[in-house]
Amino acid sequence: MTPIEETALPASLRTILVVEDNDINREMLCSLLEDDFEVMQAKDGREGIELLKRHYDILSLVLLDVYMPECDGFDFLRFRQTDDRYSNVPVIVTTVSDSLDDEIECLKLGSNDFVVKPYDVEIILNRIRNTIKLRETASIVNQLTWDSITNLYREEFFFHRVEELLETYPDRSFDIVCSDIKNFKTLNDRYGRERCNHLLHELANRLMAVIPGLAAGGRISGDSFAFLIDHQEEDWTGVLGPTIEDMTTVNFYVKFGIVEDVDHSLPASQLCDRAAMAMQHLRGSTGAGVAFYDEELRQQQITEQIIIESMSSALRERQFMIYYQPKHDVHNGSIAGAEALLRWNHPELGLIRPDLFIGIFERNGLITAMDRYVCEEVCREIRRCVDLGLPTVPISINLSRLDFDDHDLAAHVAHMADRYDIDRNLLHIELTETAYSEDPDAVVTALKELRSYGFHIELDDFGSGYSSLASLNMLPLDILKLDGSMIRQATKLGDFRIIESAIQIAQFLGLETVVEGVETAEELDRLRGMGCDLIQGIYYSWPLEQSEFEAYLARQGA
Ligand code: C2E
Ligand code: CA
Ligand code: CA
Repeated sequence: MTPIEETALPASLRTILVVEDNDINREMLCSLLEDDFEVMQAKDGREGIELLKRHYDILSLVLLDVYMPECDGFDFLRFRQTDDRYSNVPVIVTTVSDSLDDEIECLKLGSNDFVVKPYDVEIILNRIRNTIKLRETASIVNQLTWDSITNLYREEFFFHRVEELLETYPDRSFDIVCSDIKNFKTLNDRYGRERCNHLLHELANRLMAVIPGLAAGGRISGDSFAFLIDHQEEDWTGVLGPTIEDMTTVNFYVKFGIVEDVDHSLPASQLCDRAAMAMQHLRGSTGAGVAFYDEELRQQQITEQIIIESMSSALRERQFMIYYQPKHDVHNGSIAGAEALLRWNHPELGLIRPDLFIGIFERNGLITAMDRYVCEEVCREIRRCVDLGLPTVPISINLSRLDFDDHDLAAHVAHMADRYDIDRNLLHIELTETAYSEDPDAVVTALKELRSYGFHIELDDFGSGYSSLASLNMLPLDILKLDGSMIRQATKLGDFRIIESAIQIAQFLGLETVVEGVETAEELDRLRGMGCDLIQGIYYSWPLEQSEFEAYLARQGA
């Protein structure tokens, strides 16, 4: 069934308004229509206007006489033009004269068709049917094309229109400007849908008014608009900032992402994705922020694409390597542990660090397989060190928050330790506090289980911005690891008081402390004086390849 058939009303449910001062003519028209339509009558233009105002939403058509005393058909048509809701109702003008001047005047005033008196039944009924059908079809197309809240194109039509324009004008330079309201969901909850719809409407209107060179505008998701414009060298913050700032009583922040001089061969959706990518790093609480899609982002996107494409084969082909970064005792300087850190020896990109791919692995779920792989490789390495007679120190592995979705986590780790027959004291687990904040119960349960098996738990990245003292109390922990950013900050400010307090808190809770990212002898001295236990950082060593790490251990043991 086509959408048009779906929404078409039975004819008897359509209402026609007849505006005619001559009683006989009006009666005649009404009886002629009554078999097929509901009919409303008005004796002059004024009455007609009143009925239109009240019933515009149910009227399918108006049959309008031109000459009436006082308020005539022209007046009615003029009034109808004052509001879209009224002008949406089609009008067929009826007249005794077939004066061309009248016809032209009525057409100028927006009438849709004419019938000349005396009426021919077949002609008048067919014109009415055709006009109604045309209007209903147009209204359905409109609904599919335009977003009713913002009067912008709907997403699909916007993309279509953009691609059409880019194809039609291959030599013209265009920009894409996308907007996105921060925390729109929260605003919706707080202020209600109606107020937020009004906000969207207002924002769209304002943007259309101020954005120069506008070629097309669309609402591409709930709170996200996109505009195709002729390329501009514009001070965008200067243009957009004031537009938002005085807009409403609601404080809100709108991010803008701009792709300049767009590639005409790309799909419109991809251009909008690029704009969205540019705005990802914007931070603000009110007003407007503007970011551009630039070469750096382009490279980042290409790298990400390569990573995604090569991911599944990488595990199979053993392209992942584990590096080990030593941890040293702060007092006697001896090696006291190590952290396993993942590296990807990528055939195209070279050796890449985890920050580049962990996030992607977390998004597509591969992280769990990855971390299990690391766990097994580390158990194997501990076994190897024991067998080689090297000094054995605990090695920690990093777990992602997603690993905790797996209820077998603790059993799996224990199984690996047993399979390689290693002392469970030698395997430590590092987790970040963000893991805890998402599903505290699952994490606490898993950690308790891991500890009951004999593994030690280290809370990673403490002080990196997510820390809360509450989680220190809630989590079953053995070791607190202060984030590298803390020591960077302390060295920069020459003020170690925060680190000292953190160490004191750890001591109070009976936790050992590790400070990571220690780079200089001065930092080491300061930390030693504060009662910290272990140090990890390039002052001692960068993360080392397996063979280098084994050599390092051998030297320590000597
Ligand atoms: P992290 O757990 O905080 O690891 C410490 C990071 O600091 C490592 O970066 C290390 O190379 C770096 N680092 C160590 N000493 C210094 C120093 O003195 N100065 C400076 N500037 N940096 C230092 P890396 O190896 O790039 O790892 C980044 C992050 O990736 C890790 O942060 C960890 O969260 C994650 N990661 C690494 N391996 C794994 C893994 O097997 N599984 C999971 N889930 N995450 C991992
Ligand atoms: Ca770590
Ligand atoms: Ca860390």
